[in-house]
Amino acid sequence: MGRVTVAVAVGAAVVACAVAGVLFGRRVRSRRKWRSVVGVLRELEESCETPVGRLRQVVDAMAVEMHAGLASEGGSKLKMLLTFVDHLPTGSEVGTYYALDLGGTNLRVVRVQLGGRSSSILSKDVELLPIPQHLMTSTSEDLFDFIATTLKQFVEKEENNSEFSSLRTRELGFTFSFPVKQLSIRSGILIRWTKGFAIDDMVGREVVECLQAGLARNGLDMQVAVLVNDTVGTLALGHYHDADTVAAVIIGTGTNASYLERSDAIIKCQGLLTTSGGMVVNMEWGNFWSSHLPRTSYDIDLDGESPNPNDQGFEKMISGLYLGDIVRRVILRMSQESDIFGPLSPSLLVPFILHTPFVSKMHEDDSPDLQEVARILKEKLEIPEVPLKVRKLVVRICDVVTRRAARLAAAGIVGILKKIGRDGTGGISSIRGRSDIKMRRTVVAIEGGLYTSYTMFREYLHEALNEILGEDIAQHVILKATEDGSGVGAAIIAASYSSYTVDSVQLL
Ligand code: ADP
Ligand code: MG
Repeated sequence: MGRVTVAVAVGAAVVACAVAGVLFGRRVRSRRKWRSVVGVLRELEESCETPVGRLRQVVDAMAVEMHAGLASEGGSKLKMLLTFVDHLPTGSEVGTYYALDLGGTNLRVVRVQLGGRSSSILSKDVELLPIPQHLMTSTSEDLFDFIATTLKQFVEKEENNSEFSSLRTRELGFTFSFPVKQLSIRSGILIRWTKGFAIDDMVGREVVECLQAGLARNGLDMQVAVLVNDTVGTLALGHYHDADTVAAVIIGTGTNASYLERSDAIIKCQGLLTTSGGMVVNMEWGNFWSSHLPRTSYDIDLDGESPNPNDQGFEKMISGLYLGDIVRRVILRMSQESDIFGPLSPSLLVPFILHTPFVSKMHEDDSPDLQEVARILKEKLEIPEVPLKVRKLVVRICDVVTRRAARLAAAGIVGILKKIGRDGTGGISSIRGRSDIKMRRTVVAIEGGLYTSYTMFREYLHEALNEILGEDIAQHVILKATEDGSGVGAAIIAASYSSYTVDSVQLL
């Protein structure tokens, strides 16, 4: 071998070693980065853990807070608001009634024609409109003008198509799903906004007056018969169809629950007399808090940067407005700690850019190479092509965040059942899951886009309910999804209060 040949061979070996060295170094670095990302995931998993023991602590805390909120004004983060609904529909209501449902994301306009016998709804028309973003932070006049004109168009359409008697003033149930201090069945004062609304001039004002003025401004002759919130509407529709319905839960943009309570248990209103002996209580459970809730650094940051820090803590872990943003925050953190998502995408820094329906789309992507995940990362978060293992990681984040939310919602539901003695322990025995305890059929009406449209969320919630209650008890607890319950239910309550003659509430 000549000298030149040897030199070339040695040179090539050196280059090969150098290349191998660089590749090896890169691989080590990339493995280290991957490990740090997996570390972020592990930390998330641990801090979101909801073993059944912890869920039972949440159940107990919920029941305790319910007692405290009923005992005195300001006695708990749970406001436990009186609704003045002291009887629930029975199925015998009759006539045509309207409802407006102002939720958080959408405005629904509803008309129902009730048959008057065996819970028959002869016709139901529902129109749904997204609430324009700018109206959520504008003035009350702007908001109620939008609502009134929408309702007016809806009514006018109906007048052309039906024989509705214009001799009688139309009656309207108004579902207004924000914390309200109710003064009567048809009036209440807005305590504060939630779910991203911030119209300052409305806080402290009488809500029905604002609506009634809006209707008058727009030349609509309609009478607001009842003011309720979505949970109460849902409870009413649930009870209209099934008299074993004792509570209602909303899991949509926000989350809340209401249930039928005995008047004598509402200690803060001593001497409260209702013909039925009961009253629906609006828990405003979105504001529930307990040290047993599994809180992460992402929750703390989300809360701190929200317009209502320290409020709605339960809601911020559970509801549709927030889940997407928790997922975004985890991806952001991973992206800051490594480059597995490529260079940091500025979109990741934009709060609420990732809406929860995209979380469910990614979570439920069953294509082998997770195409939907890739598409959403690219289109929503401007993160181009990432390897399959990174897409799997994103699915895992969605799973952890959603599972925690669903399980906490289940614990909240069992908390209500415990308070009203329907959790199978009911004061008869403290031994859980005893098969000889007579458990009454108990129905909880549920509504909201997160529950109805996100299958994995729903399944996790049901699974947790079974785990907490044990199967023997859980088989008597039926979660029934209602459709348009918050609106249709309000129309039915309007009917029920309009034609109220005989008290029909069955107390627990
Ligand atoms: P509102 O709370 O305004 O009354 P809905 O009950 O219809 O409205 O709930 C809408 C919310 O539910 C959305 O803001 C979203 O957070 C959530 N949602 C709707 N569809 C889905 C879905 N497919 N997957 C996950 N979340 C969803
Ligand atoms: Mg709603």
